[in-house]
Parts: sequence; C-alpha cells; structure tokens
Amino acid sequence: MYAEVIVDISASNVDKIFDYDISGFEVSEGYRVLVPFGKFKVEGFIIRIKEQTSYDKSKVKSILGAVDDFPVINSEMIKLMHHMCKLYHLKYINVLRLFIPAEMRTGKVKSLSKKVVTFVGEKQEIIKNIRKNAINQLNLLEFLVKNEKYYKSELNEKYSSQAVNKFVELGFLIESNEEYLRAPSFNKIENNKVELSQLQQRAVTQILGGRDKTHLLFGVTGSGKTEVYMNVIEKIISENKTAIMLVPEISLTPQVLSNFKARFGEAVAILHSGLSTGERFDEWKRIRFGEAKIVVGARSAIFAPIQNVGIIIIDEEHEQSYNSESNPRYFTKDVAEFRRKYNSCPLVLGSATPSLESFNKAEKGEYNLIEMPVRINGKEMPKIQIIDMLNEIRAGNNGIFSRTLLYELENCFKNNKQAMLFINRRGFSSFMRCTECGYIAKCDSCDVSLVYHKDDEMLKCHYCGKRFKALTKCPECGSVRIRQGAVGTQRIVEELKKYFPNVQAFRMDNDTTQVKNAYQKILGEFGKTKPAVLVGTQMIAKGHDFKDVTIVGIVDADQSLYQTDYKSTERTFELITQMSGRAGRNESEGRVVLQTYAPRHYAYKFIANYNYKGFYNKEINLRETAKFPPFTKIIRLLFTSEHEDLAREVVKKCYNKIFDIAQQNADDFVYYDAMKSPVTRIKNKFRYQILIRIKKEHEQEIINKIYDACDECVHNKVSFFVEINPSSLS
Ligand code: ADP
Ligand code: ZN
Ligand code: ZN
Repeated sequence: MYAEVIVDISASNVDKIFDYDISGFEVSEGYRVLVPFGKFKVEGFIIRIKEQTSYDKSKVKSILGAVDDFPVINSEMIKLMHHMCKLYHLKYINVLRLFIPAEMRTGKVKSLSKKVVTFVGEKQEIIKNIRKNAINQLNLLEFLVKNEKYYKSELNEKYSSQAVNKFVELGFLIESNEEYLRAPSFNKIENNKVELSQLQQRAVTQILGGRDKTHLLFGVTGSGKTEVYMNVIEKIISENKTAIMLVPEISLTPQVLSNFKARFGEAVAILHSGLSTGERFDEWKRIRFGEAKIVVGARSAIFAPIQNVGIIIIDEEHEQSYNSESNPRYFTKDVAEFRRKYNSCPLVLGSATPSLESFNKAEKGEYNLIEMPVRINGKEMPKIQIIDMLNEIRAGNNGIFSRTLLYELENCFKNNKQAMLFINRRGFSSFMRCTECGYIAKCDSCDVSLVYHKDDEMLKCHYCGKRFKALTKCPECGSVRIRQGAVGTQRIVEELKKYFPNVQAFRMDNDTTQVKNAYQKILGEFGKTKPAVLVGTQMIAKGHDFKDVTIVGIVDADQSLYQTDYKSTERTFELITQMSGRAGRNESEGRVVLQTYAPRHYAYKFIANYNYKGFYNKEINLRETAKFPPFTKIIRLLFTSEHEDLAREVVKKCYNKIFDIAQQNADDFVYYDAMKSPVTRIKNKFRYQILIRIKKEHEQEIINKIYDACDECVHNKVSFFVEINPSSLS
C-alpha cells in the first residue's frame, strides 16, 4: 500500500505530493508520519491511501512510522486543503498547518495523565473498618459514591492523603492513570434563560427552517443576537449535531465564554489565543474526539476538527480580523461556506453593520436576510453631533478637542460618569491634508486618497499606480500648512491632562496591550473608576458594556475615511456606528460627539441617522461605478526577493503572460499593471507587485489562468504571494 504525503517543509520546490510505501504500518488517511526526505527525517501528513504508485517502486521509500496514534485530520479537511490551495494559491503544507495546534508540530505539547481512584466498596462494610474518631476517613466515605471516579490529588487535599491511602490499601478505592484535560478557566455564572422576543423567535425559526442556506442576521447593537445564536445551537445540539460559533478575538470576553458555559456546560470547547499551550491542545483533542459539541472561538476555530457540523455562526461578520492578512491568506467566510456545503448545514452571519459585500449578497438573494431593527430594551441609539473642525480653527481653537466636546466632557466628569475617546489608526495613515481648508490629496482617476511615499517624496495611487509630487502648498486655498499623518492616543491623553488634571485617563492601543491580559486589565480598571476616560483605537469600539459611559468622542473621524483603499468609507461607517453603540447603555442618556474636517461627507450624514441602508445604497452605487468589489475582484501578486534584479525579471515575465491573458479576455479585465510595492523593501527583501482588477462573473477561471502562468515564471529565489481584495497595500 502507498500513501500520498505532504512533507512539513515550507519551501516552494517541496510543495508537492510525495508517494511513500506504508506496507506493514497501521496508518490511514489523515495520519502524521515520519518519513525519510533527502538526508533528513521529516514529518508529513498522509492525504491519500492508494494501492499503486506511478513511480518506480524500487525508488519509493517507506515511511518510518506514525507520529500520533490517531489521524489528526479528517477527509473534510483534506478536501478543504485542496479547495483553499486552489482559491488562494497556497502551499499545501501551509494550509495543513492551520488544522492542528502549532505546538503539536514542534512536539512541545503532550497529553497529561493524573491518578484517579474509583470507589468500589460497600459503605456499611467499610464503616466496620474505620475507627470512630477517624474523622477524615468518615468524611471521605460520606463523600464517595459507588462507581464514581475521582482525581486522587483532589481527594488528598480535601480528606488527607493518609485517609485516601488507607482506603486504597483496604481495596475500597482502585487506582489507575487517566488522561487529564487542561480546561480553560472561566467565571461560573447562572444560566439565565430568557423568553425570546418576537423578532428573536422569528430569526430562530427562519434559520432552522433554512438549513441549506446562508443567513445574514442584520440586528442593531443590543437587539439580542447572542440569544438567537444560543437558541439555534440548542436545537441543533438536541439533534445530535455540532456547532461552530466564531467571534472576533477582541470580543471573546470572559463574559461571552461564561454565558456559553452556563448554557451548555462541558459541551463547549473554547479556542482563542489567550489559552495556554496545554489548554489549547486539550480543547482541540476534546473537539477531535467528539467530547465537545460546540466550538466557540476566534478566526482559527473555523478549522476545528469537529464532525457532523449542524450550524456555523460568524458573529460581527463585518470584522476585518476574520481575514488572514499574512501568509497563508484566506477569508474565514470562504472556509465557512465550504464547510457549510460539505456538511449541508446553515451558516449565519450576524452584524449590526454588515459588510457591503454580504448585504449585497442578501439583496441579490444569495443570502437570506433576517432583520432585527430594534433594541431589546426598546431604547433609542445615542444622538450623534457632528462638529466641523474647520469652524473651530476659524473661531481660534487650534486644539484637538472642539468646544462642544470639552463642554460635554466637563459635564460628564462633573456628574461622576465616564467617557470614551476614540481615534482610528489602523496601520499608518499616510494621506496628506491641508489643515486650513481640509483638502486631501486624491488620485484624479480613482477617487481614493493618495499615499505619501517618504523615500522619494511622492504621492502615489495604490490602485492605478499614478504618481504625483508631494504637496508643499494646498491647491485649493494656497496654505502651506500641510500635515501628513495623524494624531495619536498618547497626544490625546496629554491634552486631556491639561484640561482635566484630576480625571483618570486610560489608554488602549497596540502599544499598551502588548503584555498578556493587558486588554482585560485596562478595561477592568477603567470599569471601576469614576469619573474616568478611556482613550483608544478601534480596539475599544466593541466588547465590554460600560453602563456609566455617557459620552463617546470621535476625535478624528476622518482618519479612517482617507485611508487609501476602496473600503475606507465602509470601515468608517462601521467603526463609528459600533463606537456610538458604547454610549448610554444604561438609564443615563448617551451622546456622541463626532469631530471632522469633512462635515458634509455623505458617510457622516448616514452615520448620524443610523441609516445603514441609506449608506449601503449610496456606497454600493459608487462601487459599481468605480468598478470596485463586490463588482470586481482585486488581485495583488506580490513578489519578494533579496535579489532585486531577479524579482524584477520574474515580475516582467509574469506581466507579459498576464498581458496575453488580458488580450484574450479583454472584457473581463478592468485594470492590470506591474510596479514596485509602496513599501519597497521589508527585511532586506525587495518587493514588486502586479495589481489586477477583474470583473465578477467567471473571475475564478481567469484567476486560475493567472496562477498557472505565474507558476511557470517563478524562480526559487523569488517568493510569490497572492492577495485577493487586500485591505492594505503596503
Ligand atoms: P447584540 O449581540 O445584538 O448586540 P446582545 O445579544 O448583547 O445584543 O443582547 C443585549 C442584551 O439584551 C443582553 O444583555 C442580553 O442578555 C439581553 N437580552 C437578549 N435577549 C433578551 C430577551 N429576549 N429578553 C430579555 N433580555 C434579553
Ligand atoms: Zn487648503
Ligand atoms: Zn489612481
């Protein structure tokens, strides 16, 4: 018998399927095996078993043995691997590595075992053997129940090891070793089941009635989506099926976990980055061996080895973090769609601000749209005031806070309440802006803001490649007060100290959350302090409910508006809407102050009225006109190498082939060009790219042609990556 093996080496010239002889070994599809490879012994994954090999039998080597005593991946995942490789041009091994806990590969994590004892005696009999004053033994006996197992160490602790050993000696307790699973800790809370509202009930009925569909659950913040998920899962579990529930890493709060544990107990397995290595491994095993029926986790939980999936839920489906933006790049929703089809089960995408792409699919009928437009408690969303920062400058206020925001903050602190100040600083905002009139340098043919490239003092368009001289003077008003970049959280905290020296300010951004649990700690401290203010990036836009937050200030709303990709406006709408939902969660009324240099921008008009559909209609029309996703697919082929001439050579060859493909499919191509990447060198590797935009219809066919063409041109000293609809083009 032979096995097709993918070896665990991530070099492009090794990304092939190798045949090995498995005669005499007890292995099957999905096993990890040790194989001879060149001069080395390496690990590999069996992806297929077959009777024959097409290679010279005398040259086919034998495997050396199995790594584990069970298959680590199942046939669904092997099919998924093939699917992902084809879709995103990934290497087999890089996909397979997603399917098992990283520590398994390095052998750094092992199963643990613990001594257990089983009670076998008769209580009446034993009593005769115990002295009347042996309190520990009597208490222990009282505790033991026939045929139950106990961890010996726990009994030792409670009733003394002498008492326990005495019972073992007398044969009332039988010792054995058993695998011990490390479980993530969580706060135990009561399971408070609520009566569903009519809207919630309708949502549950629609999901359970549409088992072959993808549903978009469009429910405002506080409409009770979580309760819908839990009810659906309850039903699915009662049918002996399993569930996958994804939430963004940042909202995997202890509260969410406690809720699920309270409702479903041991049936829940948790997967997220806060777990210890051992916990993650053991939770993975509980899933793998069918002990856990519900996986609650962040992005990577979509690869959980759970079988017989009855429902997949992606909460906050608009979240960018569901897309892997480093190798291997993938879209969690694509993976979820694959698993939905494979398991013939429903997929639920939930959000208060659905991605345009998802809402578009709902509009076209590809998704079933379920709406929950009102909050459970019936409360209105907080009022949003739009403040024109240019007016402030004209009135002589050059600070970063408007007069309105300062006034609102003062009131808030006087009443012993809390405030949140928010700036969006995803990545490095490198647009150029006139601080006098608010002018932003934009590309004249793409309507996206230009990126400032410091090295050659140029402004470049990341979509069409056009180049412009960096601004020294504003073309609108002639002012020389041009600013590049943005205000940071640190600066805001410093300013706050000047105005409100006695109010405690907490800061949350990438810099302050590097240490483990820092995120929870800062939020915890803030929650306990009054008055107080929390200053942060988009990290604070979701997650915890703080009932004393009455003011939300969006210090520089425009920062996300003028990022350089086509999704900037969508992201702004989503972030500000989510952020506004933080204010006035309780009895006290909430207010939002939104500071902008572009008060008339259409996004703000829709944001102020919480008008998602109005925004959607406007934005989707713009996308269609400008030929951006979801009407096209953007493909970025990125080539990196330490040898610049080699990289350039490969890019040129690929470009020529793509040119030919474009000639033959002229109707499908909107645009294609080759260029240096905006960041021209990272870690001593030169970066070149080919950007392509293709109309949606048979785009996958063309993309496959492009992959094939590029594969013919690659050089082993040039790395080649593919990105689909990248959100950042650095
Ligand atoms: P969403 O996820 O849609 O923003 P949540 O699921 O967080 O909303 O629900 C908001 C609040 O309403 C939570 O505190 C939740 O416990 C509560 N809730 C949800 N459904 C009900 C219900 N049917 N009756 C009473 N309270 C509910
Ligand atoms: Zn100007
Ligand atoms: Zn352009």
